[in-house]
Amino acid sequence: MLRIDPGVVENVAKELYIRALKILPPDIKQGFDTLAARETAATAQNVLGTMIRNIAVAEATDNLLCQDTGIPIYNVTIGRGVELSGDDGAALKAAIRKGCERATREHPLRSSIVHPLTRANEHTSCGIGVPVIQIDHRDEIDGLRIEMIPKGSGSENNSWLKMAVPAEGIDAIKTFVIDCVLDAGGKTCPPTIVGVGVGGTADLCMHLAKIAATRPLGTHCADAEGAKLEDELSGAVNMLGVGPQGLGGDATAFAVHVELAATHITMNPVAVNMQCHSARRASAAITSAGVSYGF
Ligand code: SF4
Repeated sequence: MLRIDPGVVENVAKELYIRALKILPPDIKQGFDTLAARETAATAQNVLGTMIRNIAVAEATDNLLCQDTGIPIYNVTIGRGVELSGDDGAALKAAIRKGCERATREHPLRSSIVHPLTRANEHTSCGIGVPVIQIDHRDEIDGLRIEMIPKGSGSENNSWLKMAVPAEGIDAIKTFVIDCVLDAGGKTCPPTIVGVGVGGTADLCMHLAKIAATRPLGTHCADAEGAKLEDELSGAVNMLGVGPQGLGGDATAFAVHVELAATHITMNPVAVNMQCHSARRASAAITSAGVSYGF
């Protein structure tokens, strides 16, 4: 049995927010290199070059990759044999929230979170329901895993849900995704990861799109038909000409990711959520060996 003190979780939550804002995951850097190598438009090549230099300068000078500190999301996976100081998860959430607050106050970071009606900013990166904390259980892992995603507003503002007509099938899904990418244009700070949720209920479908948008590059939908759709759409969106920052070119998206859930016989939900080119995430594993950080 691994007993985890809430103080450890708090420190990890603080560190993860700062790390995520400063160090871009290697799969995204590789994604930039791949797009830059095949870009044919001169302006787009320049924009991609500037983005790549921005990442290198930010990391070399210990600065933030982007001024947008995002909306903080923590995905927690509790493995086999973990005991969280005898509570039901409330202390875990409180510790994460405190870590998020401390990162903001102590680093300090710009707090991007406001009350949705009064627009008051508590300058903690926290508020009602924020940070977003998702808790899952998986028996096949040891210890506790925490993934932190500061989701940029430029990408999050470009989110869509359609309850499509079932008779229109997969064609409605493809058309909707293409329309969303065109509608977003440069507003979502491309190149993007286009996250597509298909199936489920309205809320599950939107949640799947977020999981898809924040999945590492190089991963694929576990369902063979979903993976096939990813391939088709990844090729299609990069023929739209949106390009980096919407200034034209081939590099509109690093990839299209798809996540699926079963749905009702009379429903055909499809959701799109985008991740911007500052596709930041950081993770930590808390095990009996201590704390280790990754992406
Ligand atoms: S959407 Fe992404 S790249 Fe654009 S400002 Fe926000 S974090 Fe930065």
